[in-house]
Amino acid sequence: MISEADIKKLADRLSDSSELTTDLTDFEEYCHDATIDSGQPVAVVWAASDDDVIAVVRFCRKHSIPIVPRGAGTGLSGGCVPPPQGGLVLSTERMKTLRIDPEKRIARVGPGVITKELLDEAAKLGLTYPPDPASFDESTLGGNVAENAGGLRCKRFGVTKDYVLGMRAISIDGEILHTGIYNSNRGFALGDLLTGSEGTLAIITEIALRLIEAPETGVTMLAAFDSPENAARTVADITGAGQITTVLEYLDGDAAACSNEYEKQDGLHKVAALLLIELPHNPKATKLVEDCCRINQCSYIRIETDPTRAEQLWKVRRNLSKATQEIASVRVSEDVAVPISRFPELVRFVDEMNRSSSLRINSYGHAGDGNLHVNFLSMTGDEADYRMMDTEIERLLRKAVSLGGTLSGEHGIGLAKRKYIGFEFDNATLDAMKKLKSCFDPNGLLNPGKIF
Ligand SMILES: Cc1cc2nc3c(=O)[nH]c(=O)nc-3n(C[C@H](O)[C@H](O)[C@H](O)COP(=O)(O)OP(=O)(O)OC[C@H]3O[C@@H](n4cnc5c(N)ncnc54)[C@H](O)[C@@H]3O)c2cc1C
Repeated sequence: MISEADIKKLADRLSDSSELTTDLTDFEEYCHDATIDSGQPVAVVWAASDDDVIAVVRFCRKHSIPIVPRGAGTGLSGGCVPPPQGGLVLSTERMKTLRIDPEKRIARVGPGVITKELLDEAAKLGLTYPPDPASFDESTLGGNVAENAGGLRCKRFGVTKDYVLGMRAISIDGEILHTGIYNSNRGFALGDLLTGSEGTLAIITEIALRLIEAPETGVTMLAAFDSPENAARTVADITGAGQITTVLEYLDGDAAACSNEYEKQDGLHKVAALLLIELPHNPKATKLVEDCCRINQCSYIRIETDPTRAEQLWKVRRNLSKATQEIASVRVSEDVAVPISRFPELVRFVDEMNRSSSLRINSYGHAGDGNLHVNFLSMTGDEADYRMMDTEIERLLRKAVSLGGTLSGEHGIGLAKRKYIGFEFDNATLDAMKKLKSCFDPNGLLNPGKIF
C-alpha cells in the first residue's frame, strides 16, 4: 500500500506541466481502453517530459508499483488496463512535441501526438505518414508504435514498424535508451524490439518517423456482392493478379447494415458483403479490379474519382467500429489475419459461425492484408452470452491459426488474447520472449499481465 506522503513526494519531483491524481472520479476512462476489460489504478500521472517519466519509473521501482503506459486508450486488446494489483497509469498523451525536417523527410514526435496531427502537419509540406489506423483522429503515435498499428493504407505502404527510424525510451532503471537514428544504427535493433512491445519493455518518449511524398488521391470503388465468400474471393483474385491496391476493405452485410443505421447510406442494408477499394489512377488497373469483381458476380459497382464524393463512401468504413459498438449492449472485437489465399475460407467460417450462433456476429477489415475484425455482439449482455462469446472466440482463433494466420493482425495480444498465445507460438519461442522481457524488466513492473 502506498502512502499519501509518498505520493506527495512523487508529485514534488514532477515538472509544472505534468499532473498527478489519485482521485479517479472524473477520470474513469483511465481504468480501461476500448475493450470491456477494466482495472483500478492507484494513481494517474500525465508526464510532460523525459524527466517526469524517469521520476515516475524510479518511484514505482522503489515502491514495487506496476507501471501501465498509456496513450489515448483506444487500444482493442486491453493493453493499458491496470492490473488487478493496482498500478500507476503513466499517460504520455501530453508529450506532444512535433518537428518535421522536410528535406530529410523525418518527423520527430512526442508519443502523445495524435496520428492525425502528424498527418495534418506533414500534409502542409506535401508529405504524409502512411500508417493510418481507423482510430487516427484519436490514437497517439506512442500507442501506434507500442502496438505496431496497421491501417487502411497499409496494404500498399506498410505498417507502423516500416516507418520507425528510431526512438528514445526510458528503461525500468530510469535510464534513457537511444535506438536507430538516435544512435549510429549499429548494434542490436532495440527499436525494432520496442515496436509492438505493448508497453512491456520500456516507455517511449520520442519517435523518429519516416515520411513520404503524399501520393495523388486515386480512384475509389465500392462493389456489392450477394455472398460474403464471393467478396472474399475477389480480394484473393485481385491480389493474386498482382494488383497492389492502396486500400482494400471488406465489410459483411451485417456490418454494412450497422454502418447504415449509424450514418444513413442508401442501399447498404440490402447487401451480403461490400468491398471498398482505392487504387492509383490507372485505367488498366481499374479495369482489372472491376473484372475481378464482375467474375465473382458483384451485384453493384460504383467508381468515384471526385474526392468529396469518394469521402462519403469512406465514411462507411471509418464509422464501423463505433457503429458496431453502439448497436449492441456488449461487443467483443477480435482481429485475426490469414494469408490472402485463405481469406475466403476464413470469411466462410465466420459466416457459418454467425448462422449457427445465438450471438450476432459480423465482420469487416483490412482485407488486402488478410485482416478480419470479427465482432461478437450481445444485445442483452447476459451471462449466457459471455460464455458463448468465450467459446466462439476460441473457435475463431484456432481457425485463424490453422489457416496459417495470426491471433492479431494489428491490435496486439495485450490482456485480451494472452490466454490464447500458445495457439500461435511454440514453447521455445515464447520462452525466448519471456527471457527478453525479464532482461528489460526483471521484477515484472512494466505493464504486467500483458502478452504472457
Ligand atoms: C474506432 C477504432 C478503430 C481502430 N482502428 C484500428 C486500425 O485500423 N488499426 C490498428 O492497428 N488499430 C486500430 N484500433 C486500435 C487502437 O486505436 C490502436 O491500437 C492504437 O495504436 C492505440 O493507440 P492509443 O494511443 O490509444 O494507445 P493505448 O490504447 O493508450 O495503449 C496501447 C498500448 O500501447 C502502450 N503504450 C501507449 N503509449 C506508450 C508509450 N509512450 N510507451 C510505451 N508503451 C505505450 C500501452 O501500454 C498499451 O499496451 C482502433 C481502435 C478504435 C477504438
